[in-house]
Amino acid sequence: ALDVQYIQKHLVAHPDFPKKGIVFLDIFPLLRDPVAFEALITHFLFHLTSSTIPKLNGGKIDVVVGLDARGFLFGPILAMRLGAAFVPVRKAGKLPGECVSVTYEKEYGSDAFEIQKDAIKPGQNVLIVDDLIATGGSARAAGELVSKLGGKTVEYLFIIELLFLKAVATLDAPVYSIVKTDD
Ligand code: 5GP
Repeated sequence: ALDVQYIQKHLVAHPDFPKKGIVFLDIFPLLRDPVAFEALITHFLFHLTSSTIPKLNGGKIDVVVGLDARGFLFGPILAMRLGAAFVPVRKAGKLPGECVSVTYEKEYGSDAFEIQKDAIKPGQNVLIVDDLIATGGSARAAGELVSKLGGKTVEYLFIIELLFLKAVATLDAPVYSIVKTDD
């Protein structure tokens, strides 16, 4: 579709960033163009309101969880338009108050994610959003935090999905992405 082409055209590949051998896809050019940014939000909303999300069982999304840091750029916009709460998952040590933590493996060593304990109530339907899914390690960690608070992850939403890493099979809910790439 035209909107997907338009969105895709604004993603810029940077070979050997942040280190040799990695091709980093930059989403910031998309945010520089207000029409592309609007197309992105509209595409996500069209998906979220017009297609069936099986795990929702006809219910509504109560909470949008955005991942540190690029999930903070469009997660709150989606939450506001859906009439849902926005809740950040942050790198450990950044959030005040009582938090729940989870550690996850990264390419080098491990990292920790946190969520505020009172941010999700048991039984709430949660949508987890980030800009890109690679190995799925961060998405999986965020899903664990949601489970720890008793929330139910109904879907994982991304702009870009790196298919060759086969992350989808390791998650507890379906993935929706706009741009799927195999290289
Ligand atoms: P994963 O945990 O799935 O291996 O990696 C995904 C996380 O790393 C996301 O938070 C994402 O923002 C970041 N990331 C990894 N590679 C890229 C990339 O090529 N482009 C962008 N924009 N983010 C990336």
